[in-house]
Amino acid sequence: MSDTKTATKEQPASTKDRPIIVKGARVHNLKDIDVEIPRNEMTVITGVSGSGKSSLAFDTIYAEGQRRYVESLSSYARQFLDRMDKPDVDYMQGISPAMAIQQKAASSNPRSTVGTTTEIYDYMRLLYARIGHTISPKSGRRVKKDSTKTAIEELHRQHDEGTKFYVLFDIPEHEEKKLDDELRVLKEKGYPRLLHIEDEQVLDLTSEDIDADDINAEEYRVLVDRLILGKDDETHTRIAGSLETAFQEGSGRCSVKIRDGEELNFSERFEMDGIEFSEPTPQMFSFNNPYGACDKCEGFGKVSGIDEDLVIPEPDKTIREGAIAAFSGEKFSKHLRDLIKVAARYSLSIDTPYQELSEETKEILWNGKDEYTGIRPFFEDVKSQSYKVHMRVFYSRYRGYSRCPDCKGFRVRPDALHVKINDKHIGEVAEMTIGHAREFFEDLQLSEFEKEVAEQVLFEIRKRLKYLDEVGLQYLTLNRLAKTLSGGESQRISLANSLGSSLIGSLYVLDEPTIGLHPRDNDRLINILKSLRNIGNTVLVVEHDPEMIKAADNIIDIGPFAGVHGGEVVYSGTYDNLLEANTLTGKYVSGRKEIPVPDERREGNGKSIVLEGAMENNLKDLTVEFPLGKLICVTGVSGSGKSSMVHDTLYGAVENEFGSYKDEIGYHRKINGLHNIDSVEMVDQSPIGRSSRSNPATYTKAFDGIRDLFANTRQSKIMGYEPGHFSFNVPGGRCENCKGEGIQTIEMQFMADIELTCEECGGKRYRKDVLQVEYRGKNIHDVLNMSVSEAIDFFVDEERITNKLQTLDDVGLGYVKLGQSAPTLSGGEAQRVKLAKFLSKSSGNHTLYFFDEPTTGLHYEDINKLLDSFNELVNNGHTVIIIEHNLDVIKSADHIIDLGPEGGFAGGKIVATGTPEELVEVEESHTGQYLKKVLK
Ligand code: ADP
Ligand code: ADP
Ligand code: ZN
Ligand code: ZN
Repeated sequence: MSDTKTATKEQPASTKDRPIIVKGARVHNLKDIDVEIPRNEMTVITGVSGSGKSSLAFDTIYAEGQRRYVESLSSYARQFLDRMDKPDVDYMQGISPAMAIQQKAASSNPRSTVGTTTEIYDYMRLLYARIGHTISPKSGRRVKKDSTKTAIEELHRQHDEGTKFYVLFDIPEHEEKKLDDELRVLKEKGYPRLLHIEDEQVLDLTSEDIDADDINAEEYRVLVDRLILGKDDETHTRIAGSLETAFQEGSGRCSVKIRDGEELNFSERFEMDGIEFSEPTPQMFSFNNPYGACDKCEGFGKVSGIDEDLVIPEPDKTIREGAIAAFSGEKFSKHLRDLIKVAARYSLSIDTPYQELSEETKEILWNGKDEYTGIRPFFEDVKSQSYKVHMRVFYSRYRGYSRCPDCKGFRVRPDALHVKINDKHIGEVAEMTIGHAREFFEDLQLSEFEKEVAEQVLFEIRKRLKYLDEVGLQYLTLNRLAKTLSGGESQRISLANSLGSSLIGSLYVLDEPTIGLHPRDNDRLINILKSLRNIGNTVLVVEHDPEMIKAADNIIDIGPFAGVHGGEVVYSGTYDNLLEANTLTGKYVSGRKEIPVPDERREGNGKSIVLEGAMENNLKDLTVEFPLGKLICVTGVSGSGKSSMVHDTLYGAVENEFGSYKDEIGYHRKINGLHNIDSVEMVDQSPIGRSSRSNPATYTKAFDGIRDLFANTRQSKIMGYEPGHFSFNVPGGRCENCKGEGIQTIEMQFMADIELTCEECGGKRYRKDVLQVEYRGKNIHDVLNMSVSEAIDFFVDEERITNKLQTLDDVGLGYVKLGQSAPTLSGGEAQRVKLAKFLSKSSGNHTLYFFDEPTTGLHYEDINKLLDSFNELVNNGHTVIIIEHNLDVIKSADHIIDLGPEGGFAGGKIVATGTPEELVEVEESHTGQYLKKVLK
């Protein structure tokens, strides 16, 4: 696994049970803190967002674990150690090599799947190579290789002792008219007799009057021996000897003709029904290398071409109603008329919905008949004219991916699919969900021999499937592409992999493992972390979830607030004592402070957007109403279809209407009511900018006002500076040595890049003369170093600036420095910077906002503030749609759409809709049942 950074080495016994001790940690905002983390226990680090949890867990403790690991490596690797960022700490003890399980995407290989990243597919390849049966597609019989031994066994199985038979091989292949040469060679080798296979007459080549032209070589075999079937040693040896000779002379093939009976064919080659098959090897099943990958699609399972779903977007329409979208315009309607003519001739129904048409009719629709061209040839023709712009545009409307015709989407070379275990080829097993595959491998029917060779491999497969099932991923299919997994899903896969690796004495550091998990599945996750601890590991979890906090052996609460107002240990100890503690976390978990349930649910504006016939992924033909002017929560267990419905389909369709949606839009029949909104925004946790040139001040445009202010000072006017001189993004006033970054990045060959402060400006980003310009005693660099709250006080009379900054403060980011570069903001912080920008926009129009698990990285206190922002948006006339598992958010919604009941195939339905109070009444709704506890 590429995202499980492993660092293992046996620890000397003495350090095994010593606690982890950190003294004087000062990374980022940490205020010279000391912490002690007991070994072989589970510790939760909590605290408001931005308080310093990651700085402690990842940037201090895990980073040191990594350093220790490098230290334990070769001297070659060690030479880079000095240059590795050493966490700013006075003293650390008891740190073992650490493993971080983060939410990063699992792999960059576009072909990687759940099966390959968990190694299950690799073991399956081994299993198929070892015990797979190759089945001839012609006769359905098993392909086997014969040997002298198996041939004799076969003879005994089919015939009684005393049976008379001939041992034969075919006359070797030869060029036309060269049969006499061949016969001469046979004679010289000592095989002078041919047997006629029908009448069993022997032809003696030594006799004079043989003319090769009279012989039909196919009717004859070369006779090796005449024998009588028997089991005594002498007979056995003779039979074996003759068969061996026959195999050898017949280039691996020979036959036995029973006297007055059948001919049995034997081959040492791997063949059946006249087809020679490749013998299974593990490489043959690998779609990641050219040997095993399907040639046509190079292992992707899909080829580009015409997307059937785009050509027939509404399969419940009939042909007469215009099911074939491409023919519905004026331009190509001739094809539709041709089709209707031909349909009449062959009495094909044009008044039956497309989806109910027979395969034969569809075949004609797609491939044509008589004067009707057919959809596929039609598009071939269009494609050939793509030098014309309008044809190219037309074609691109229907272009997409379709299942590869050669491998049927199974990605491996087609002959690999002839190899089966319990009637399933490897592609069929890869298509199974983890839950289903687990049953398949538990219930395999194997012979004793197969059991023996497969035992170890099966053990590995079953073990991995079991852990994946336990972390709640039973709904994922093995062939699911890794790059399409959510952060939470990939993290849980890594977790399952760690459980499977059964390393002990390690330190595991996890980042909010409950992300993406419904409260129903939290218990299971907690139990898994406990078992990781129980087998002898130290588990450190950054987490906000109340259940997880409750389950921890120790809690370290970082606070009291964020950024410069945080970075201290405000509590450390057991859960019971935390209940009494006078910290934000203590108050919330004990219920002394809580997020209030709203007094009433908003009515909305009476309008709505209705999505009809949503069928993407597992969605079961859903028709869903989204009432506008409300705070809407979409809930459901992981894999129930929330993202498929909200992100892929609804957001895709709306964004496509108002902007340009780049991905494929989830399949749906219709969407109504889009005229009721004016614009759309998706607020996810992606960074607000990758370059260090973006920061909260530039992103919210507060910096524009600040630059104008500096340009307008007397000093600046004397020097002739423009606002541009106060930008670090364009040449003029910035330091050119570092191009306004304040740091210089040195590329390292084997390690992450290292960053050094710019020597020229000392990290101040601007030229010396520009820094001499001051506004009320501060230069531009001083301003960038202010926190948002400080800047609000400082620029108190400048509304143009404070308005923008106030919104940052409102979403709880008062502690962030104006100049803190975007990539160093946490996901939660980045999300709130975006939110601030929206809140500062005018509220005249109606915007539909989407949020995907906005509580990621947020503490109760942060969620409280976030809800205020949501409510402000809705009260200003907008609509907010949130995918969320957090019960405090769900209980605050005006309207809930609960999907389920389970994940994957067993999900994709609407379980309940309505207000939180209404949901509680629905027994089948997992969400409703959990909501009951918080609504009281
Ligand atoms: P938490 O994990 O509790 O949300 P972090 O440890 O990520 O908080 O951050 C603590 C503070 O340090 C925040 O104000 C954050 O913006 C700041 N910070 C984080 N990373 C960096 C960095 N690389 N450079 C400067 N400041 C940082
Ligand atoms: P949720 O958001 O509720 O966790 P999703 O909408 O992500 O659920 O997934 C619903 C179902 O569709 C799951 O079985 C999931 O594995 C499957 N799925 C989601 N995305 C894809 C995809 N890109 N390709 C194939 N299957 C997918
Ligand atoms: Zn293919
Ligand atoms: Zn510089």
